[in-house]
Amino acid sequence: MAKQYDVVVIGAGPAGYHAAIRAAQNGFKTAVIDGFIGAEGKPALGGTCLNVGCIPSKALLESSEQYHKAQHDLAAHGILIDQVGLDVPAMIERKAKVVKGLTGGIAQLFKANKIEWLQGHGKLLGSGEVEFAPIKGKAEVVKAKHIILATGSKPIEIDAAPLDGERIVDSTGALEFQDVPKRLGVIGAGVIGLEMGSVWSRLGAKVVLLEAQDSFLAPVDAQCSRDAYRQFTKQGLDIRLGARVTSVNAGKNLSVHYEDKDGKQSVQVDKLIVAVGRRPQTDGLAADEANLLIDERGFVHVDEQCRTNIPGVYAVGDVVRGPMLAHKGMEEGIMVADLIADKYGHVNYDSVPWVIYTHPEIAWVGKTEQALKAAGVPYKAGSFSFAANGRALAMDQSGGLVKVIAHAETDRLLGVHIVGPMASELIAEAVVTMEFGGSAEDLGRIIHAHPTLSESVHEAALSVHKQAIHKAN
Ligand code: FAD
Ligand code: NAD
Repeated sequence: MAKQYDVVVIGAGPAGYHAAIRAAQNGFKTAVIDGFIGAEGKPALGGTCLNVGCIPSKALLESSEQYHKAQHDLAAHGILIDQVGLDVPAMIERKAKVVKGLTGGIAQLFKANKIEWLQGHGKLLGSGEVEFAPIKGKAEVVKAKHIILATGSKPIEIDAAPLDGERIVDSTGALEFQDVPKRLGVIGAGVIGLEMGSVWSRLGAKVVLLEAQDSFLAPVDAQCSRDAYRQFTKQGLDIRLGARVTSVNAGKNLSVHYEDKDGKQSVQVDKLIVAVGRRPQTDGLAADEANLLIDERGFVHVDEQCRTNIPGVYAVGDVVRGPMLAHKGMEEGIMVADLIADKYGHVNYDSVPWVIYTHPEIAWVGKTEQALKAAGVPYKAGSFSFAANGRALAMDQSGGLVKVIAHAETDRLLGVHIVGPMASELIAEAVVTMEFGGSAEDLGRIIHAHPTLSESVHEAALSVHKQAIHKAN
């Protein structure tokens, strides 16, 4: 007889495992089907995020930043180090340990919550039915009252630069270099391009980023992206905008050919990372007879509450519309697991924070000034530079700014944008304020400890009404 569950989740990335844990907490008999093969060739939970995404990239960003600091920044503090060495394999090994700890942690959480991990491939057959094909062995049909699709995304490949897994790689390959390439090319100056480019640049590679768009980081508030661009180029990142890659010749060197406003160009590199975006993973996800609706961009079609067109089937995370961010998928997973338990479930898509973990970090929530202008929304903006923040100066990290945008009539916060130290942590305060429908005045009246970086958020909020203390308004 077919195995029977209350909830079956396909995909154990952040969206899927959050859905599964909450479903189990809600008293449902839950199974998760996932066939991801992680380090050491063993099945691993956690999906892209834990295995080859958020976590390993942040581990390498941290290590490379420590190296860069030791090499370039400690002398300013009066700390003199004769020689700073670099052991790339050790750095990669440390990253692998961090990943292993976390993916193993999810396996323990599954055990603790009595969630069954079915290792293999899942295919939706229709309402209440999934085909499970184990990594080894025969496929079987499993039954579930509720099915949650959480199959994530994968890198987009381009014909101009076919991956070879050695010298031309995607983000996964870029996490595994065993030595520092002398010259590194990156196609796409988006989130992955900038994060991975920063890692290898800090470790000594000469990095050139080829970005097809004429503007830099288009989704970011223009004032912040200008500031970040200035800081990145000062660090030595060679960011070429309006550069459309046409082909790559893989001889002794890699010759990357591209076209920009001045015509045909080329650049020689030793390794090339292709980071031109990701696409939803729906290959083999549903049988034709299931009639799962996929939208024109390849995402599983869902409503606001992540219901697909098939009764009892939901989809969450990167495989559905919205930003491809781990925390967005996590909240969707939790929402769905609560909805099927007849509890309250909701995701506020207007307050999803974004973070780019470069140096400086870039973080934002809500609307950019350019978007508000285009939409004709009346607003007031205030900003505050980290150069006037005592803590930032003490840390020797005074580049960047905080910008607060509020509605001109109601003063309600519409967006907060940060370029600078610990922007990833500072943005949380803005998210909370926005979730509670707070105003720039609210943020300006809240006591912030001194001396902290968060005082810059406070001052930027005060600056909306030209009342910042440490700045000529
Ligand atoms: P995934 O994490 O992609 O997981 C999907 C899982 O489903 C995988 O294990 C896959 O093998 C499995 N699967 C797919 N199809 C099937 C099937 N048919 N049967 C069984 N299993 C299947 N986001 C952030 O918020 N912060 C970051 O700092 C960040 N950094 C990133 C860095 C990199 C280099 C990359 C590539 C991504 C990063 N992201 C980051 C994005 C983040 O990883 C994704 O948004 C997130 O992983 C999406 O979660 P998910 O659960 O929807 O899918
Ligand atoms: P992205 O959309 O952030 O950037 C891709 C860039 O490549 C864009 O700027 C695009 O204009 C450019 N591009 C596209 N085709 C090109 C071409 N042929 N030649 C040159 N440039 C080209 O995508 P990504 O950096 O691959 O990241 C994918 C997604 O993963 C992100 O959108 C994000 O959702 C997620 N992610 C998040 C984080 C984070 O939260 N810190 C980190 C990494 C990835």
